[in-house]
Amino acid sequence: MLCGVKANFETVGLDSRGRFDNCFSSFTSRVPSLIDWAQHEGMRPSRYVNARKVDYVNASHSARFAGKSTGVVTTTRVTHGTPAALYAHSASRYWEDDGKVPPGARHACKDIARQFVEDEPGKHINVMLGGGRRHWLPKVARDPESTSEEGRRLDGRNLIDDWIRDKKRRGLRGHYVWNKGQFDAINPKYVDHLLDEGSRRDDVITVFDDGLFAYSHMDFEADRDKSEVGDPSLAEMTRKAIQILSKNPHGFFLFVEGGRIDHAHHYNNAYRALEETLALEAALEAALPLLDPDKTLIVFTADHSHVLTLGGIATRRGNPILGVDAKLSDVDGMPYTTLLYGNGPGFGRENLTGVDTTVKNAVQQSGVPRQWATHGGEDVPVYARGPGSSLFRGSLDQTFLPHAIAYAACIGEHKDRCKKKLPTVQPPPNGQQPSLLPLATGGRGFSREPSVCAEPSTSSNTVRTAAVGASIMADDSRRSHAKGSTVRAEVRVLMAVSLVTVFVHSKVGRGV
Ligand SMILES: [Zn+2]
Repeated sequence: MLCGVKANFETVGLDSRGRFDNCFSSFTSRVPSLIDWAQHEGMRPSRYVNARKVDYVNASHSARFAGKSTGVVTTTRVTHGTPAALYAHSASRYWEDDGKVPPGARHACKDIARQFVEDEPGKHINVMLGGGRRHWLPKVARDPESTSEEGRRLDGRNLIDDWIRDKKRRGLRGHYVWNKGQFDAINPKYVDHLLDEGSRRDDVITVFDDGLFAYSHMDFEADRDKSEVGDPSLAEMTRKAIQILSKNPHGFFLFVEGGRIDHAHHYNNAYRALEETLALEAALEAALPLLDPDKTLIVFTADHSHVLTLGGIATRRGNPILGVDAKLSDVDGMPYTTLLYGNGPGFGRENLTGVDTTVKNAVQQSGVPRQWATHGGEDVPVYARGPGSSLFRGSLDQTFLPHAIAYAACIGEHKDRCKKKLPTVQPPPNGQQPSLLPLATGGRGFSREPSVCAEPSTSSNTVRTAAVGASIMADDSRRSHAKGSTVRAEVRVLMAVSLVTVFVHSKVGRGV
């Protein structure tokens, strides 16, 4: 979903040649991610000149910095499976620090945290906010918050210090924060001030704000310490990330993950799962006022579902969603929770008469006993808004998403698309959907000629590319007529992932 290829279970940043737990298989199976593509965005220098007449190409240190700013915001550890796939290549998602890499593979395969600090694209990521300090600190180091805990690294390295040192060595300004007070003190406007003074013209794309707010995952929103010594919310992190990233006139790619919705669902604890979902919704609501809808593609989706279902018969409006069905079971005469899980904790026909199932630690009932509930297998929704959003409709394969984003944002294999004048193409008649089904089936059945927007490609994504081109043409031509311009050159991308999608767009957490 982040690299555009199918992969084997529990590997990150590898294609299907990468085998789980097999270090050597990762050497030949590495694939770039959306963040690689965004950082490598190639545009003509003349188009980099912004309103202040500052040529950001000449001001930057390398071609990579001519690209978009990039950021990752998550409530999980920043080395956790999903965010890791944006910057790391690992035969195991569990190799978050070197202690987890098998001894025989430690020389050949870097752990995920080390890849973030030392390798591309990790070391060029502008904003990284989340949890997971334990993978960055050596075993002898005490955690600053959880003082009874120590780091997990066996190589004795403090990667946070290394990260700061690397930024200094390269003449960049890195900020490391680990609680809400420090986080709040980071003022994105301060960066503007420096820019106006012309003191460092590339400050705009070299401001790093790295937050590791927790020893492991960040607290659930329902448990979060909102004080100065606590942690920022997902919405606060998202807002700050956008304020920092949007300084770059070339645009940005920001990945926002409400990563702990998943964890609460594994506990069959709907209270926290719904609170986490609302926190992700709040992050999106916080982001919207900061984003230009004509320039920002927002893609909102999940990478899987859970075995959660919403039951009840003749349940009255306003019945608490965390409570029990308005009617008793017509078999045993006992109440049952309105939200039910297919498996997991909560199995057994406990009599809930008089039990308050709306409290924070309540566990919803389940159909099959398991210590932890599993994921679900059904399709999940994907919502999109902004340039290129017409690509996200119908039934899609998850590997299609990054290619469509790349097309809309002119990055990756579509990076040269923005250099071309748009041909005049008539938009499809009202109501007619672009041809996207071939994408969902890996290109089978695609019969139209590739559009002129489609790049000649030697990759296996040729057909995919062509289909993307065909469908986005109408969108482009509409915009080019309306604005009298060529293709969008500075598309921003906000990709929000929920890890589970139930109720993403409704506020049912406190009653329907
Ligand atoms: Zn999970």
